Amino acid sequence: MGRKHFIQTSLAALISVFLALAGYVVVLMYQHQKEIDQLSNYNLAWIASQTAVEVTRFNQRVTAFAAGRPDVDEDEVQLRFDILVSRVDTLKVGSVREFVEAAPERKSFVETLDAAIQKIDQLMPRVAEPGVAAQISKIIEPFDRQTAPLASSAYAYVSEQVLSYQKSMRELQYLFVQIVAGLIACGAGLIVFLLYQNAIARRTSAALEVSTRELRSSKLELEDAKNEVDLRNAELNIQNRTLLTRDIQLRTQNERFDAALNNMSHGLFMLDGSGRMAVCNARYLEIVGLGTEDLPAGVDADELRDDPSGKLSECVRIFDAVNRTRSEGALADVSRRFMHGCEDGRTLSVACQRLGQGGWIATLEDVTERRRAEARVEYMAHHDALTDLPNRATFMDAMHAAIGAHDAKGVRFALLSLDLDRFKIINDTLGHDAGDKVLQIVGQRLRDCVRDGDVVARFGGDEFAILQDNISSRSDMLALARRVIETISAPFPVNGRELRLGTSVGMTFAPEDGRDPEQLLKNADIALYRAKSMERGTCCFYEAEMDRVDELRLATEVDLRQALNRGELEIYYQPIASIGSGDVNGYEALLRWKHPVRGFISPAVFIPLAEDIGVITSMGEWVLRQACVDAASWPGSLNVSVNVSSIQLRNSNILATVVRALADSGLQPSRLILELTESSLIEDTEATMAILKHIRELGVKIALDDFGTGYSSLSYLRKFAFDKVKIDKSFVDEVTVDGDCLAIIESIVRLCSILKTGTTAEGVETSEQLEKLVSIGCTEVQGYLIDRPKPLAQILERMPGLKIPTAEAA
Ligand code: C2E
Ligand code: CA
Ligand code: CA
Repeated sequence: MGRKHFIQTSLAALISVFLALAGYVVVLMYQHQKEIDQLSNYNLAWIASQTAVEVTRFNQRVTAFAAGRPDVDEDEVQLRFDILVSRVDTLKVGSVREFVEAAPERKSFVETLDAAIQKIDQLMPRVAEPGVAAQISKIIEPFDRQTAPLASSAYAYVSEQVLSYQKSMRELQYLFVQIVAGLIACGAGLIVFLLYQNAIARRTSAALEVSTRELRSSKLELEDAKNEVDLRNAELNIQNRTLLTRDIQLRTQNERFDAALNNMSHGLFMLDGSGRMAVCNARYLEIVGLGTEDLPAGVDADELRDDPSGKLSECVRIFDAVNRTRSEGALADVSRRFMHGCEDGRTLSVACQRLGQGGWIATLEDVTERRRAEARVEYMAHHDALTDLPNRATFMDAMHAAIGAHDAKGVRFALLSLDLDRFKIINDTLGHDAGDKVLQIVGQRLRDCVRDGDVVARFGGDEFAILQDNISSRSDMLALARRVIETISAPFPVNGRELRLGTSVGMTFAPEDGRDPEQLLKNADIALYRAKSMERGTCCFYEAEMDRVDELRLATEVDLRQALNRGELEIYYQPIASIGSGDVNGYEALLRWKHPVRGFISPAVFIPLAEDIGVITSMGEWVLRQACVDAASWPGSLNVSVNVSSIQLRNSNILATVVRALADSGLQPSRLILELTESSLIEDTEATMAILKHIRELGVKIALDDFGTGYSSLSYLRKFAFDKVKIDKSFVDEVTVDGDCLAIIESIVRLCSILKTGTTAEGVETSEQLEKLVSIGCTEVQGYLIDRPKPLAQILERMPGLKIPTAEAA
């Protein structure tokens, strides 16, 4: 571009120079032409020659005039002179003068001539005078000869000048031609250059047009591409955002998984398709006793085996076990479970699950404790914890087996039932620890008495039983019974003392005495009670014709022992109403025994029996707990009264039982009333009072039951601050008929009101009784008049709105 521009500019500059030169040459030529024209127009030679001619003519005329020739007059002479003067004047101006002055001879000639003219001029006015004309002729005459050379030199001069102009004109023309040629050349060059430029420009333009078209289509393509890219970009952005969200979700998920994984109670590890460790959790490491650094991800069993420290050995064993399981498993077998025994004795439950990608996931649970506990539970379900002897259930199983064996092989067996004499005294006086020790020794001694295959069991308390297997006659069982009596009569070393106990044994022979285990047990128990009713330390066979009455009592005792376990006991509730408000303010829990054969048996019958045979403690505890649970769901103002036997108060830890019953049921202590009879307070008063105080400190209330039946000692009322006194039914029965009774009740009620103790009249059956009791000032009433004792379900139906019936309604 720069070069082209330079060339173009140079050519233009050259052309300008040429044009300027041409102009200049033209001007020069014009000037020359003008000079030549001037030279030809203003004829120098002619002027010079005319001067010479006029000089000659004047000379002739003056001479002729001087000569007096008639043809010449003075005027003519004057005319000639004037012409001559004008001629000479022309020599003194313009180019003629230049010409004259160019040569000194011509200059001096003209000056001389001019001077002569001046003289003649002075003479002319007198030309007509004689001699003057001759004088003039003489002056002019020399010049007549001399003017001719002037004319000729003028000619020479002019032609010389013209020649020189013509020469320079020619030179100029030549120059002009050259300039024009240069101009033409430059013009041609310029044209060629421009054409070339044009061609290039056209080519470039064509190329440009193609490029432009291409560019335009490229632009469109680019725009399309850009749109496409924008679209993709937008899609990518969306995908990106989705991925980001997924990423966050995944991270959260991962964290959760990690947390879940490491907080699992089970150990977990995952093997990849090639049997390498992919992942494991904290619990797994804990189970195999390793740290995170001991078990890097990606190791396999062989690599772990190389560990010289040996601390990875358990881990390797588990790996191998899982790998074995993997290889054993059929393709369809995707989950397996096995028990793994650790070197240190622990048992792991391992569950393997095949994963979709070919790996395996194994979960491990340390079941050592559970297994031990299960075994323990299993053992305990079949054994007595204290003596380690089989329990009643196991014993029954053994009896069933023995009956089966008899049926199969005709084998006979005996059943021996025994309890310890004086055991209760030992237990009560020396405490439970001593009692327990005695029972353990008894268990051991009984075990030592029997053969393999015989079963010794403890049924609870001091009750034991022996299944003597495979005997031939009654004498075999008698021999065993005697051995047992003898071994028990030996002293028991307990707490540094030698205790003496004894035992009685009841025996029954199977299958002669019966085929049913329950029946056989009952038979043995009946025989035992018969033995006990005789001398201490004796044994007795069961005999079918034993006293029926005895049997009934004994059978009742036997049944009563099992009543609680068999769920034959139920609590009925009888309402107690406040005389002041007329509302029921609580219920008394009254135990019922629904015998499977004999129907309802009165507590008046079975409670003394339960006290006799020692089951009152567990029975009373059950009533207390159940009554608390029941009452906890009643409206908050209603109390529950529970009867407590004197045996319970003495022999059991009644305080702990009450605390537990309250805690387990959630019943408010102030809603529980314990009813005690006077008789419970007679024995061991100090200790009993202390227990009662503790119970009262819990907030539990204490009522004195059946007041008036026993010693009716008012001193108890002063000794202990009872919350209420229950006046026995026998007084209430008499209240309307016997004035003494009325007086007694009045005095009790008065005393109680002074002591701020409530009074409850029991067994109120009529409205007359009620009226009397109201008038006396009794605070509460209980009896059929209000309602009979009823099962829980029935009293719940009537619970709200239970009132003392008015006299009219009754
Ligand atoms: P109790 O504590 O004096 O109970 C009142 C007894 O009188 C109850 O007899 C009750 O049904 C009855 N009775 C209530 N109102 C009337 C009435 O208007 N007329 C008549 N004829 N009788 C009425 P139940 O239920 O047979 O109880 C007898 C005894 O058994 C009770 O006398 C109590 O000493 C004892 N007992 C009941 N349940 C338990 C218990 O769970 N533990 C203990 N240790 N003894 C209980
Ligand atoms: Ca009672
Ligand atoms: Ca009573």
